[in-house]
Amino acid sequence: MANVNDLKSSKFLTKHDVDPPITVTIKSYEESNVAMESQKPELKWILYFNELEKPLVLNSTNGQRIQIVTGSGEFNDWIGKKIVLYNDKTVSFASQITGGIRVQVPQDVPVQQPDEEQELGMNFFCRKCQKNYRELNNDTCPDCGGVDVIDMRADPSIQGN
Ligand SMILES: [Zn+2]
Repeated sequence: MANVNDLKSSKFLTKHDVDPPITVTIKSYEESNVAMESQKPELKWILYFNELEKPLVLNSTNGQRIQIVTGSGEFNDWIGKKIVLYNDKTVSFASQITGGIRVQVPQDVPVQQPDEEQELGMNFFCRKCQKNYRELNNDTCPDCGGVDVIDMRADPSIQGN
C-alpha cells in the first residue's frame, strides 16, 4: 500500500520497493540533493544498482553494513559487489517504528575480508582499524585497543542467517 509519506521520496527507493527482499549489484554512487523541491537542499550519498532504476539514499547504518559485506569503507571498492536490500520492519524513526530499508549479506556470497589470509571465523570488526578480527583482547580491538568494535555474531542479518 502506498501512502502520502512515499511521495516525498519517490525518486529514491522506499521500503516498499524492497519488500520482498531483492539482491542487487552496486553500480555507482554520487552525492545528490534528497530534499523535497520546496525544502532547502540536503546533500546525501546515493547508490545506484544494476537491477534497479531508483537509487538508495545511503544512511550510516547501511553504509557500515556494506563496509562489513565488502570489507572496505571506500565507495569505489563497492562497485560490482552484491548486497540484499530488504524492509526491516523493526527500524524506527523519530521514536516510531516505521520500517525501513536495510542491507543484508546475500546468502550465496561470503562476507569478504580485507586480508585474504583471514578467511573464516571472523567475529569482530573494528571501526577504527577497518579490519575484522577473530578474537578480541579484553573486549577491545587487538590492534588499536579501541572499543568501537562491532560484534558480527550479535546481528544475524549481517551474517545472512
Ligand atoms: Zn582497532
